[in-house]
Amino acid sequence: MLNIILFGPPGAGKGTQSEKLVNHFNLLHISTGDLFRKHKKENTELGKLAQKYMDDGVLVPDEVTIQMVDEEIENAKDKTGIIFDGFPRTVAQAEALDQLLAKRDAPIRKMLALEVSHEVLKQRILERGKTSGRVDDQDEAKIQTRIQEYEDKTLPVANHYEKQGKFESVNGVGEIDAIFDTLVELIETVSA
Ligand code: AMP
Repeated sequence: MLNIILFGPPGAGKGTQSEKLVNHFNLLHISTGDLFRKHKKENTELGKLAQKYMDDGVLVPDEVTIQMVDEEIENAKDKTGIIFDGFPRTVAQAEALDQLLAKRDAPIRKMLALEVSHEVLKQRILERGKTSGRVDDQDEAKIQTRIQEYEDKTLPVANHYEKQGKFESVNGVGEIDAIFDTLVELIETVSA
């Protein structure tokens, strides 16, 4: 299976690029942020639990997030693979993901990291907040908290996959289509 992690801070373009990549390679898109927002909208127990963390811009607890992903992976049966977007966000999530995929004999093939400066991230998220309706996109202090959570808890995940020889960094600033072409080329090197 072609299992890829699209990595990077909030606002790096993971969602935009994932949408294009899933169509191109027939992948299942697992975005934990989207899944939590769906639960919130449908007012499920999980949605209610996640809401307070999301509204504050901090991470939802690992066991809740991992359980949700474990269930979602089951939907990949008729797909070429999975693109993980916004997951794993802690080393504990990465270790759990590796185990979930080992069980299915389908390890992560590559982690592609979109690199974007903090200033550009903040501008992009505030711009998205004008139309996304997301409260966590509209408040500079919350955006700062999300970037800080990324620095403190999520960046070490890059090291986890670097050690496995799977990490690759990509410039996330520029034309959407040009960045997409770069990602496609890199994915083709592991899918060949
Ligand atoms: P995102 O749409 O990826 O920016 O995620 C929005 C919010 O959902 C985050 O600020 C977290 O509160 C929560 N969230 C999304 N993915 C995860 C994850 N892998 N682990 C913990 N919390 C997450």
